[in-house]
Amino acid sequence: MPKLIDTHAHLNFNAFKNDVDKVVRQCLANDVWMINVGTKYETSQKAVELAQKYEKGVFAAIGLHPIHLDTGLVKIKNDTEEVEVHAAEEFFDYQKYEELAKSPKVVAIGEVGLDYYWRPKTTKKKELFKQKQKDLLTKQLDLAKELNLPVIFHCRMAYNDLVEILRKRRNINKYTPDELLIKGVVHCFAGSWQQAQRFLEMGFCLGFNGIIFKKIKDIDFEEVIRNTPLDRVLLETDCPYLAPPPTEGRNDPLTLKYIVERVAKIKNLSYEKVAEATTENAKKLFSISI
Ligand SMILES: [Zn+2]
Repeated sequence: MPKLIDTHAHLNFNAFKNDVDKVVRQCLANDVWMINVGTKYETSQKAVELAQKYEKGVFAAIGLHPIHLDTGLVKIKNDTEEVEVHAAEEFFDYQKYEELAKSPKVVAIGEVGLDYYWRPKTTKKKELFKQKQKDLLTKQLDLAKELNLPVIFHCRMAYNDLVEILRKRRNINKYTPDELLIKGVVHCFAGSWQQAQRFLEMGFCLGFNGIIFKKIKDIDFEEVIRNTPLDRVLLETDCPYLAPPPTEGRNDPLTLKYIVERVAKIKNLSYEKVAEATTENAKKLFSISI
């Protein structure tokens, strides 16, 4: 059984193309399991292929990240650490992703959400750009609901809009039994405690990674982590990015222990308690049974 589960890794990215199997084997030998997360069709497919190579311990999430949707409005910087094909997707092909989700290794839809970091300068285009992202998100929430899968949310400079979209959906579904509502995690959470509460109220989990070691204006990670109930905390690395100190350079799932240590310290709990609880949370949300 796993000691830890990295709920947001990208071993499906280019950064690992020369030694991905070695890294996976090292993780599994250390009882660190993982979910590799897709950002567009190619990386989603890669995540599924990778998961299928291993009998246990490696899972996949599939989805179209908002910055990979070709909105035709903003030129998004290419990321060489992702897979080699850099073309953005012109539209979200629901059926293609639905087909990919047939693999039993797919445990979530993600990463999907809103990213307003890169945006057009004019107000009119800005609104159009946001609307395109919202439409894309809505389609993927429909897919998650149809497949009864949890969602891994990416959200950058857009927490208020994401809350609004999720709230509206819940209100429409007021009479839907709890177990049919969208479940999920806001990955790489870097908002205020006030924003955190709004996601927690709706039943979502928060995902913490190496970003919690950084100083970000107006964000008090200690306050957010201290106040978030332990049964809503998920841990992740977002590797190859965000290596937590003392590590540096290309990140990998084995650094998850530093996130556990930091969360344990802030919450004044033992390392074992945090490791056990967060692993349990991941197994529950993503229905990982073996
Ligand atoms: Zn990611």
